[in-house]
Amino acid sequence: SHQPRIAFHDGHTIPQVGLGVWQTPNDVAIDAVRIALDAGYRHVDTAAVYENESGVGEGLRSSGIPRDEVFVTTKLWNADQGYDSTLRAHEESLKRLGLDRVDLYLIHWPAPHRDRYLDTWRAFVRLKEEGRVRSIGVSNFEAEHLDRIIGETGVVPVLNQIELHPRFQQKALREAHRRRGIVTQSWSPLGQGTLLRDPVIASVAEKHRRSPAQVIIRWHVENGLIVIPKSVTPGRIVENLDVFGFRLDAEDMERIAGLDSPDGRIGPDPMTATF
Ligand code: NAD
Repeated sequence: SHQPRIAFHDGHTIPQVGLGVWQTPNDVAIDAVRIALDAGYRHVDTAAVYENESGVGEGLRSSGIPRDEVFVTTKLWNADQGYDSTLRAHEESLKRLGLDRVDLYLIHWPAPHRDRYLDTWRAFVRLKEEGRVRSIGVSNFEAEHLDRIIGETGVVPVLNQIELHPRFQQKALREAHRRRGIVTQSWSPLGQGTLLRDPVIASVAEKHRRSPAQVIIRWHVENGLIVIPKSVTPGRIVENLDVFGFRLDAEDMERIAGLDSPDGRIGPDPMTATF
């Protein structure tokens, strides 16, 4: 397959489109991952808290695709933050996945009320040094959290996975990433499905004879973002990867840029979340 990859500052690369598996039960994840890999996906995004790491691992093995050809991300849950607990949680994630390394390990949330993300990041640096993870990154970090871990350890996360979609375009944080050499990954790229009926998206979709989901995923791709749409429906899984045969023009991009809103956030605010 000829999918674009995005380069990290540590020399590794990630396929630009991956499969998200949040809210996918473990047994359903087995089939979703196998179907996605059959369809050409080479990137899966899970997390310890999704409780489907073993299904993801099983789907990967049952696909018959060599382990090294698939990019697997998992995330450390908030309750496991801290140096020793991170090392333990990482071990358990590998066991559930049935893998001896993940390609990308993320701190799921900064959880500033716990004040443990710095020690957690120190453990991540050790896991990377020991080759137990290929690349280390974060999720839901704001610029001040990024600057604290970088300032204290000198190690820059390769990527920050944040809520990002046409209604919440995160322009300031994307610029902060760019200045620090961090890649941006979009979670809830379709706004959890809520953007699929937006009239602007629908009109651009009609113009290109593509689905609304394909237009939104293509918008992420053209913005240089890494995008992990979620579906467990075989036809949609296939459709969501089929975004490399058309382009949005300047007018389309301008119309979609106009959907950005300061109130567009759907998920929790990382600064105030208390989980
Ligand atoms: P999403 O924006 O990917 O939307 C998924 C929903 O859109 C599906 O449940 C389905 O209802 C609909 N959909 C998908 N493809 C479609 C298609 N082709 N046609 C019609 N409808 C379609 O939502 P998400 O799952 O919240 O986000 C994607 C992934 O991002 C997650 O699965 C997870 O891996 C990751 N994520 C990470 C965090 C984090 O804190 N790091 C938070 C949320 C999600």
